[in-house]
Amino acid sequence: MNTTSIVDTQPDSASVVAPRPVGHPVVHARDLTRVWGKGSAAQIGIANVDLEIRRGELVAIVGPSGSGKSTLGALIAGIDQPSSGSLIVNDTRIDRLKVDRLAAWRGGNVGIVFQDFHLLPTLTAQENVELAIELGSSGAGRRLRKRAAVAALERVGLAGHTRKFPAQLSGGEQQRVGIARAMVTQPPLIVADEPTGALDQANGHAVFDVLTKLAGDGTTVVFITHDLSLAAAADRVVAMVDGRIASDTYRGVA
Ligand code: ADP
Ligand code: MG
Repeated sequence: MNTTSIVDTQPDSASVVAPRPVGHPVVHARDLTRVWGKGSAAQIGIANVDLEIRRGELVAIVGPSGSGKSTLGALIAGIDQPSSGSLIVNDTRIDRLKVDRLAAWRGGNVGIVFQDFHLLPTLTAQENVELAIELGSSGAGRRLRKRAAVAALERVGLAGHTRKFPAQLSGGEQQRVGIARAMVTQPPLIVADEPTGALDQANGHAVFDVLTKLAGDGTTVVFITHDLSLAAAADRVVAMVDGRIASDTYRGVA
């Protein structure tokens, strides 16, 4: 393993050393790098990222388009793997896991929320959420799955919408189904990549409120966003520039 780090490539003046909140680290990334291709053709996703996220934190990842937000989110969620560096999430070192192991790990450890919802159009809200439990191979029977799906939908404020199809729901409601699906298996970590990107402001706020509540209950939430007004309401804001962390600040800490 390569343990040397290139210290002088870190941005300096823009960096803010944030005080670390106490608690168990759910995400622990060291010198994390993702590149595609080689030599002069290399495309850098992220480079030499160090990041720790504690249980129950709601972390907003911001930065211009192409700055590496989605790359970082995909690595933390275990849907991609780094070129180098180490990544421990929920006490498992996932940077070298074989693909099938990684998929199994994801099932019990992370809920993923996508910008464009990714709901199945022929299933109701409840069935979309139930499917996540089935795929999570928890072995839960149909009745239990139903109950868990309804409870998750209630939790995101959709008690009256369980039998509706995605097309019968607003964008904000669809995204809340997406969050219910991500959290129904009670993963300790939720990674949401621009979950409010396709929503108007009111719906964006409603989705953000749901994520805030989840974090309040102890779920760690990585929230990638373009919306600086939402980011400002997060516990912590990690700003990316050119594949690196340019600043890392806690709310209320100058
Ligand atoms: P953001 O989410 O902040 O817009 P991304 O993480 O999607 O940024 O992309 C960061 C950089 O990595 C960009 O320059 C992008 O072109 C590059 N990149 C992302 N995915 C790939 C890929 N599969 N192959 C090559 N380059 C990629
Ligand atoms: Mg992106």
